[in-house]
Amino acid sequence: MTGSEAFNHATRGILARSNAKLGMRSRDFSAASKLSGNGSGDRLIDERFATLRFKAAAAGCAERTPTIWRARPLCLSCSACCRNTEMILTPSDIRRLEALGYRREEFAMLRGGFYRLRNVKGRCYFLRGSRCAVYEYRPIGCSMYPIVIDVEKGDVALDEDCPIAGETTEGELELARAHAKRVLEELGILPRS
Ligand code: SF4
Ligand code: SF4
Repeated sequence: MTGSEAFNHATRGILARSNAKLGMRSRDFSAASKLSGNGSGDRLIDERFATLRFKAAAAGCAERTPTIWRARPLCLSCSACCRNTEMILTPSDIRRLEALGYRREEFAMLRGGFYRLRNVKGRCYFLRGSRCAVYEYRPIGCSMYPIVIDVEKGDVALDEDCPIAGETTEGELELARAHAKRVLEELGILPRS
């Protein structure tokens, strides 16, 4: 796999690996979206409950996601990485989101041997307008993005689809490397050290 292929496979996902291509788009998620019935009414209810969930989290019921890539101002109006997402969830991501009161079947679906964020009408379940409803508790892969894990190379890489990937600092890449190892161990791709 060339470097650019690895980046493309990693688009809106956490991993770049040839046997788990991440090139699937909203068409693949449309049936689940219809079944979910997550229309505007459900969305309103969900947002009301979100306040309660964050109160629970603020009371110390949920650990926050480590900050790896600090959002730049442009991120506030783009959210391209939160649409048609194929982000893989680690077991600790799922535990953290469930601790907020969300049910796994609401926000995740099994695909290609991994739990991934579920899309509703082509948008991540947690995307509200252009903001993430669970930003402080989002999956580790979201915290790393536009840094992604290139399993073929055993290193992290930048997703060139992100317009500000070039702003990534060396410090962020180093921090991502340390977290990437833990992520791969959690997913069973690397043996636990
Ligand atoms: S695609 Fe890049 S610029 Fe847009 S929200 Fe995601 S990280 Fe920010
Ligand atoms: S969890 Fe948040 S940051 Fe991650 S894809 Fe969904 S809306 Fe975007």
